[in-house]
Amino acid sequence: MKSALVLGAGGFIGGHLVKRLKRDGFWVRGVDLKFNEHAETEADDFVISDLREPGNVRGVIDRRFDEVYQLAADMGGAGYIFTGAHDADIMHNSATINLNVADAAHKRNISRVFYSSSACMYPAYNQEDPDNPNCAEDSAYPAAPDSEYGWEKLFSERLFLAYNRNHGMKNRVARYHNIFGPEGTWQGGKEKAPAAVCRKVALAANGGSIEIWGDGEQTRSFLYVDECVEGTTRLLRSDFEGPVNIGSDEMVTINQLVGIVADIAGKKIEIDHIPGPLGVRGRNSDNRLIQEKLGWRPNDPLVKGLEKTYAWIEAQTRRNAA
Ligand code: NAD
Repeated sequence: MKSALVLGAGGFIGGHLVKRLKRDGFWVRGVDLKFNEHAETEADDFVISDLREPGNVRGVIDRRFDEVYQLAADMGGAGYIFTGAHDADIMHNSATINLNVADAAHKRNISRVFYSSSACMYPAYNQEDPDNPNCAEDSAYPAAPDSEYGWEKLFSERLFLAYNRNHGMKNRVARYHNIFGPEGTWQGGKEKAPAAVCRKVALAANGGSIEIWGDGEQTRSFLYVDECVEGTTRLLRSDFEGPVNIGSDEMVTINQLVGIVADIAGKKIEIDHIPGPLGVRGRNSDNRLIQEKLGWRPNDPLVKGLEKTYAWIEAQTRRNAA
């Protein structure tokens, strides 16, 4: 039986990845600081452990695994990443985890670790035009991410690729672009735009209004979590080390996102534009490289994933109210 290790298994994408690996017939160990608060884990073995401690990392990488997925990171939505208030924690915590994991995997003679970088590592200067952002993989340098979160991701993707060059590993690096779906953070300040918009629309009365940071004309693309997991497993099992984008190329403004969610909810919603942390002006996945290297690209329409996500978040808001 094949085995897999998912670091960050108590998180959003990690939880979905564990389910997928179980469906694929793997024996799975999950590791996290916490259990997933939204769903019972399907991992065969789940270890609560702090991966900032090297001894803990060696403890959970105590055998060979066919596949290792390193998703653990100190992260959140714009309210967590872009205010600057958490910069030291974000850099210290995530870099320490990645240094520990790369080293422990190498010393256990594990050849393949998947590492989830982020579109936040792309230079801010290529993302000032909301209609025409450049997120081609080779546009990464000269580096100028707009957040310390992005700088840490850039450092860590280089770290995993350095282990490939110097230690013969076959690590794989993807740059995720705004992943969303059910069973993710939807309140509390670490949630991302799709979840925040679904929650606000679910709580608003028909004809009511919701608050949106900025003018809402900033553009983004959002990838449904099932397609993210599909791309992740495909990349790990492929001959291509990356870095490669895993994202949707269906770009929308935040105002349009609100419109789509309002339609799904069957509500008429006004938007109140208020000051808030924004991130770059425009961002979209460039999917030419993933298509070329993997012969696959995400292609489900945004509305399809939003329908499932809205239904789940709307049910959470009703449960909270009861
Ligand atoms: P998440 O926050 O839900 O999951 C990350 C998990 O890591 C959390 O459960 C957290 O408890 C765990 N973790 C943090 N510090 C830890 C530590 N010291 N020891 C053990 N576990 C620790 O985030 P997610 O959305 O599932 O993202 C997974 C990965 O994908 C992250 O590396 C993230 O940076 C990357 N990513 C996500 C997105 C997105 O849109 N969700 C976009 C780009 C990149």
